[in-house]
Amino acid sequence: MVGGVIASSSCPCDVAPGRHEVCIGMARSDRELRGKILDYLRSHHGDLCRHWFDDIEVLGIEGGVLRLLVAEPIRLRYLQRVGTQVFSEAAQAVTGRLLPVRFLGSTTGVTPERVPTSSGAGDGSDMPASLDEQMVLSPDYSFDQFVIGPENRLAHAAAMAVADRPGRAYNPFVVHGGVGLGKTHLLQAVCQAVLARQPSARVVYISCCTFIDAFHECVKAGRMPDFRHRFRNIDLLVIDDVHLLSRHEQTQEEFFHTFNSLFQAGKQLILSSDAAPVEIPALEERLISRFNSGLVARVDRPSFETRVAIIKAKALLHQLTIPEDVPAYVASRIDSNIRELEGALARIRALAQANSVPVSLDLAKQALADDMRRDVERSPSIHAIIEEVTRYYNLKVTDLLSKRRHKSVALPRQVAMWLARRHTRYSLEEIGGHIGGRDHSTVLHAVRTVDHRRELDRALSSDVSRLERSLLRGDDEAR
Ligand code: ADP
Ligand code: MG
Repeated sequence: MVGGVIASSSCPCDVAPGRHEVCIGMARSDRELRGKILDYLRSHHGDLCRHWFDDIEVLGIEGGVLRLLVAEPIRLRYLQRVGTQVFSEAAQAVTGRLLPVRFLGSTTGVTPERVPTSSGAGDGSDMPASLDEQMVLSPDYSFDQFVIGPENRLAHAAAMAVADRPGRAYNPFVVHGGVGLGKTHLLQAVCQAVLARQPSARVVYISCCTFIDAFHECVKAGRMPDFRHRFRNIDLLVIDDVHLLSRHEQTQEEFFHTFNSLFQAGKQLILSSDAAPVEIPALEERLISRFNSGLVARVDRPSFETRVAIIKAKALLHQLTIPEDVPAYVASRIDSNIRELEGALARIRALAQANSVPVSLDLAKQALADDMRRDVERSPSIHAIIEEVTRYYNLKVTDLLSKRRHKSVALPRQVAMWLARRHTRYSLEEIGGHIGGRDHSTVLHAVRTVDHRRELDRALSSDVSRLERSLLRGDDEAR
C-alpha cells in the first residue's frame, strides 16, 4: 500500500479543513478507502471482482480524481478498459461525492495512455480503432488460472513450451476444440507469459474476426503497407478463432503471406479454431498444410473432476465463498463447457445476492433449475430435429437414418446434420452417431454442403430457415 492517511487537502470528502472530522468516518486512510470501495464492488458488482483487486493501491486524490495504482501492466490495461466506470461509481458511493477514478501504472510518470499495450507492437495509432480494442488481454486468462485435466493436458503443455521458447518449440501451434473449452484462455496465457518474461516482445493477439475486418478496411483505404507492417514486424502472432477464415479467400491469401513471412523469420504463430485444420470448411489446402506442419492439439470437454476443480478455481478468483458440496453438484449438472459452468456460478452468486443469503446447496439447486429450463428452451434435441426434418420432407425416420443415398433422402439427412451442428452442442462424431451411424467426416461434408448450397439455392435456404423456425417454435410451445 502506497501512502498512508490521505492528506486533508486530498481527502475524498474535500470538505473545508476546519470540518475535516466529517470525512474521517468515511475514509480514514487509503487502505480504508480501498477496503470500502472493494466492499461496495463486491456487493454491487460481484461478477466483476477478482482476488487481485486486493493488490490495487490508493495513490491519493489529485485534481478531484482518485488515483489508483495497478502495478501489473495487463491488469492495469484491463482495468482501464472495464473498471473505470464501476470504480468511479464505488468511489462516489463510499465518499458521497463525485470522485472519478484513474488507474495508473507503477512506473513513475507513466500515464495510462503511455502504458505499453498488451500488443507490445505499440503502433496501433495508424490502424483501425477496432484493432487496438482487441489487444486487451484478460488477467483471468493466465497459466496460473488454468486448470489442467486429461482433456487439455497436451494443449496446456504445448502452450507452456511455446511460451518458454517462442518460435522454437512448436511452430505454428494450433489449439482446436468446441466452444468454451479454454482455447482463448490458453492463447492469452501464452501472450501474458511471453510479455511477463520479455516486456518488449512484440506480441499481437487478435480475433480472426478483427483480422478480417482490418484487412478489408486497409484494402479499402489503400493502406495495405500499414497492415503488413503491423502483422509482419512482430515476434508472436496469435489469431483466435481462425476457422472464421473459412470462405474469406482474399483474407486467406493475405494471411498465407503473413504466415510465411513470420514463419520464415522464426517468429511464433499460435492459432485457435473450433475444428481441426482439415475440418475447417473452405480453407485453402496450402493453409491446412501450414497449420498441420506444427503442433495441433485438441481440447476436449472437461471430465467431472476437471469441472469440479474449475468451479473451485473460479469461485476463488471471483471471491465467492461456496460450501464443499456445491462444486460437485454444479459439475454433475453441467457437462457441456466451461463457459456454462461460469454462467451457473454467476447465477448462483446473483441469487445469493438477491436474497442476501450465503451460497448453499439448496440455493445452487434453485439457481440451476432456472438454468436448465433455459438450456432446454435454447436448443432442440437431435430427436426433435430428426422428427421435424422427416415430417417436413415427408419421410420415414428409418429412411432418414438408413444408408440410402437417393437424393430425396440424402439431402434431408444432410439438412438434419446441419441443423444438429448449428443448434445442438453435439460433436460431429456424436451427430453422426445419432443420424444413422455416420462418421464425423460425413457429417462435416453434410455441414459444408448445406452451407454452400444454401448460398446458391433459394429453395433450400428457405426450407432450412423454415425448419429452424419451427424447431425453435417447438421449444416455445414446450415452455
Ligand atoms: P474457448 O475460447 O475455447 O471458446 P475460453 O477460453 O473463452 O473458451 O473459455 C471459456 C471460459 O472458461 C473462460 O472464462 C476460461 O477462463 C474458462 N476456462 C476454460 N478452460 C479452463 C480451464 N482449463 N481452467 C480454468 N478455466 C477455464
Ligand atoms: Mg475463444
